[in-house]
Amino acid sequence: MRKPIIAGNWKMNKTVAETLELVRDIRQLLVEAPENVEVVLCPPFTALWVAKNGLGRSQFSLGAQNLYHEPKGAFTGEISPVMLAELVTYVILGHSERRQYFSETDESVNRKVKAALANGLKPIVCVGEVLAEFEVGKTNEVVGRQVRGGLAGLTAEQMQNVVIAYEPVWAIGTGKAATGAGANAVVAQAIRGPLAEMFGAEVAQATRVQYGGSVTPANIAEFMAQPDLDGALVGGASLKAADFAEIVKQTAMAKA
Ligand code: PEP
Repeated sequence: MRKPIIAGNWKMNKTVAETLELVRDIRQLLVEAPENVEVVLCPPFTALWVAKNGLGRSQFSLGAQNLYHEPKGAFTGEISPVMLAELVTYVILGHSERRQYFSETDESVNRKVKAALANGLKPIVCVGEVLAEFEVGKTNEVVGRQVRGGLAGLTAEQMQNVVIAYEPVWAIGTGKAATGAGANAVVAQAIRGPLAEMFGAEVAQATRVQYGGSVTPANIAEFMAQPDLDGALVGGASLKAADFAEIVKQTAMAKA
């Protein structure tokens, strides 16, 4: 009932020319794209327009990596949800790198989530504990708080357009992925639990939750074998067409 979603977070990588190349390569490798997996590419802002053209009529979607919560105005350097709505379907919000380097908080993420939804964008809301929290057993507490804070004030109806990405920060870009069973347990308890309390059991079961953190073709099957994981948010491996395509294909097989 929950369609798995594989999203590539390109981060601050790829020029316009490189974007065209990567989009073309991914399309070629996924000519017969699996119908049971949703595929989303999230290039940097500067490459969204060419990526949109490059995707043409393929069924892949585009996503942005951030937004500012105001619709327009004197906010030099920022990009609004109104602007993004012309280009993308999804927007990654609250990524741990934004929380770490750009001081984003659950409150600012919540403002962005609301602004995204108000403008017809589907947020991919990232949550996850840092290593020190993981080591002292605070994962569920931290993740639960991020879920409650980031999604505060939303309606059950709005939740239909929200995707959550559980990304243990210690697993992002480190090559040290979580275990499938470990990630599944956090999602079941610390994400679907609060979702049930906030929006009801139906929403908790219907909301798609991705795993993110050092996903590769070698470990995606382990994650996709888990009942509560509905795809992945992929960083490094999304920059390699062959790896990304393989992750999509393995997800399709695992969730068939
Ligand atoms: C990410 O940036 O969201 C991510 C999961 O990165 P990586 O796959 O490289 O760990």
